[in-house]
Amino acid sequence: MTYKRIVVKVGTSTLTHDNGRMNYERMEKLVRTLCDLQNRDLEVILVTSGAIAAGVSRISLQERPKELRAKQAVAAIGQAVLMNVYDKIAGEYGVNVAQILLTRADTDIAERRQNLTATMSTLLEWGVLPIVNENDSVSPEEIENIHSKIFGDNDTLSAVVAQLTGADLLVLLSDIDGLYDKNPQTSSDAQLISDVHEINAELQSIAGGAGSSRGTGGMLTKLSAAEIALKNGFSMIIANGKTPEVLYDIVAGKKVGTLFSRLGD
Ligand code: ADP
Repeated sequence: MTYKRIVVKVGTSTLTHDNGRMNYERMEKLVRTLCDLQNRDLEVILVTSGAIAAGVSRISLQERPKELRAKQAVAAIGQAVLMNVYDKIAGEYGVNVAQILLTRADTDIAERRQNLTATMSTLLEWGVLPIVNENDSVSPEEIENIHSKIFGDNDTLSAVVAQLTGADLLVLLSDIDGLYDKNPQTSSDAQLISDVHEINAELQSIAGGAGSSRGTGGMLTKLSAAEIALKNGFSMIIANGKTPEVLYDIVAGKKVGTLFSRLGD
């Protein structure tokens, strides 16, 4: 399959070191790979987490704040830091970046949704790299309640962005190689599932464990994203973001991580 437009979502655990500070080497490799894919005439949209982590580190807090208003304020600081880093790295490769911050209402209300898709199309026509995040500073769901809301996490957000922009592939770069038949953090004999064609109750039960301390939803939110993908006819891959160059293998059609696709695609 030759992809024309892909959405790449990167989680906080990929963008930060174990101590919570920004992993510049990772970000550098990620952005360089995305810019290079653009040079191969592939349209790329990045969905990024990491604003709170970047904010916490910028104002030297010892840990993530617990109070909502403090989290939202820290996210506002960190979002600027995050974009500055992306802009700086992409700029080295002559690529302009654009920031798009979304709340659920922006995709639910028809007029806003149309504006969003028109903006995205224009940016892509201009060769700009759109960088999307949930608007954490105004939207309580993302940081407060990770399991039961609408976007609530960038996995679902990235699937909605892929759906609205007509992408043919969504790649979720995580801190793990893909979906396993049990949580590999707790079961050493867990096996990677390489192909999924249907999201059923059995799959949901094996994905039920919590995510990493720096990540958010674990695998459950990734399955919600996969449901949106399968329903709307685009594929989704979960792969390890430790080496962002894995994206080259993915677009070359090599077998990487867990592929969610409709049977026959
Ligand atoms: P990210 O921030 O990269 O999106 P998360 O921490 O939210 O990552 O989710 C990935 C984590 O989900 C893994 O590191 C693992 O601990 C956990 N997990 C729970 N169940 C599974 C499973 N069946 N297969 C893979 N990972 C699982």
